[in-house]
Amino acid sequence: MSQNFNTICAQAGHAAATNDPDVTSSIHLSTTFHYDATGEPPTGWLYSRENNPNRKHVEGLLAQLEHGTDAAAFSSGSAAAHAVFLSLSPGDHVIINNDAYAGTRLMLKDVFIPWGLEVSFVDLTDRANLQSSIKTNTALVWCESPTNPQLNIIDLYALVDSCAKRRIRTVIDNTFATPFLQNPLLIGADIVMHSTTKYLGGHSDLTGGALITKEKNEWWEKIRHIQHICGSVPSPFDCWLLTRGIRSLAPRMKLHVENARAVAEFLNSNPSVERVLYPGLSTHPGYEIANKQMRAPGAMLSFLVKGGKDDAIRVAKSVKLFTNATSLGGTESLLEHRKTVEGPDSPTPDNLIRLSVGLEDAVDLINDLAAALKK
Ligand code: PLP
Repeated sequence: MSQNFNTICAQAGHAAATNDPDVTSSIHLSTTFHYDATGEPPTGWLYSRENNPNRKHVEGLLAQLEHGTDAAAFSSGSAAAHAVFLSLSPGDHVIINNDAYAGTRLMLKDVFIPWGLEVSFVDLTDRANLQSSIKTNTALVWCESPTNPQLNIIDLYALVDSCAKRRIRTVIDNTFATPFLQNPLLIGADIVMHSTTKYLGGHSDLTGGALITKEKNEWWEKIRHIQHICGSVPSPFDCWLLTRGIRSLAPRMKLHVENARAVAEFLNSNPSVERVLYPGLSTHPGYEIANKQMRAPGAMLSFLVKGGKDDAIRVAKSVKLFTNATSLGGTESLLEHRKTVEGPDSPTPDNLIRLSVGLEDAVDLINDLAAALKK
C-alpha cells in the first residue's frame, strides 16, 4: 500500500530491516557479520563499510521520500558530491550554477579541475546561459535551487528538459528544499543530492549526505561501487540519528516555513534592510518558478543590510537569540555573515546575512532581529 509523506516520515525507523522486536530501530554497531562456512552471508550482511542494517534502512527511506528507485548514504553531503564527480572521467565537462554552495565550488576548483574535469560556473537563472555553455563533452549539469546563500531559483523543468534532449545527466542539490518541498526526480532529474546534515537530520547533531537515483542504471552502479570501495560512509549511529530526524521532518518543515515567511515579511518592511532574498516574497525574481516547482518556499533566507560589510557584521554581532554559526536546518535559528565564511573570491555580496530560520516563536525571532537592526 502506498503511503503519504507524513506517514512515511512518522513511521521511519519502525519495523527496521532487522526484524527485531523493538518499535524503534536498534543501532547495529558491529563492523562485521557472521556467515557460515559455505561462504554465503546468510543474513545478507558482510562488512559494515559495504552495508549495514541502519544504513540500508535509511537509504530505503530516502529513496521513498524522493520518489527514487535507490539511495546511497555518505559520511557528508560533500562526500556524496565527491562520489558523483568521481564517477565521471577526466576530460568530461561539468556545468554548475555559479552561486552554488561554496564547498562544492571549491571541491571542483581544488580537486576535480586538477584531476581533469572541465568545469563551467554559469548563471543558470537564465536558461540561455545553459544552452550556450553546453559543449560536445558536457557530461553533467549540477544545480541547486534555491541556491546557497543567494536564494536564486533555477527553473528545474527547463533545465531538465534541455539536458534530457542532449542526454546530459542532471544532479540537483535539494538540501535547501528537502523532499517535503521539492522532488527533482519527479521533474525528471537523474539524481538528487542532500546534505543530510541539514533539515533531514534536523537537530545539528549529525554529519551526512545522500544521493537518490531515478534509475538503477550503469552510472548508478558505478556510484554505488565508489561508495563501497572509497568508503565515505556514515556510521550506524549517524544513520540511526538520521532516521530519527526524518520522523519529524514534515511538521518541522511546516513550522520552519511558517516562521521564515514571518521573518521575511518583517525584514522586507525594515528600513535598515536593502533587500530580502526569499523566494516566498512576490517581489523575488524567482517567485513564479518557485511556486511551480516547490510546495512552499523553504526556511532559508538572506538579506542585504543597508550600508555595507561593516553594517552587516554589526547586525551579526548584535543578535542575541540567533546564534552566529554556519550550517542550517536545525531546530535553532542560525545567522551568518556569509562572505566572511566563503572568503574574498566568493560572489556573495559583502552586506549579505544568511538566516536558517528555526522553530522558535516567530515573535521572539523578529524581536531579536529588530533590536539588532536598530542603529
Ligand atoms: N550542499 C549545500 C546546499 C550545503 O549547504 C552544504 C553544506 O552546507 C553541502 C552541500 C555540503 O554538505 P556537508 O557539509 O554535509 O558536507
